[in-house]
Amino acid sequence: MERANRPLPTPSVETEAYWEACREHRLVIQHCTGCDTWRHYPRPMCPHCHSTAFEWDEATGRGVIHSYTVAHHAFHPYWEDKTPYVVATIELEEGVRVVSDMVELDPADVAIGLRVEVIFEDLSDEISLPRFRVLEQHEEPVT
Ligand SMILES: [Zn+2]
Repeated sequence: MERANRPLPTPSVETEAYWEACREHRLVIQHCTGCDTWRHYPRPMCPHCHSTAFEWDEATGRGVIHSYTVAHHAFHPYWEDKTPYVVATIELEEGVRVVSDMVELDPADVAIGLRVEVIFEDLSDEISLPRFRVLEQHEEPVT
């Protein structure tokens, strides 16, 4: 049986710069130049001050697990041989949260507050997908 491919995101006008940075294995986040706050996911207007002026600034790629769920059911054939797997909401050092399936994390070992860092998986010419892995307790981040 042919293995199903992971469904890939489609860059839009709002997210093209984000995916372009991912292709270079850099995690960038929108940073409002009106009120100096970070926001994610990408959107045209700041939810705090309603400014449309922003920069794409590079994030450290580090954060902690803010919350998580363990998926026991595959909602797409790609995940059929991967259940159960952990999907986490990660709070980045910049204060914004991202959702990611965790790399090689046994559901028995997941916990709120675990330190994580971004890695990038090159899935197509267009998409390098940011995912997160747990940092060991005394491990220094490589990114
Ligand atoms: Zn703002």
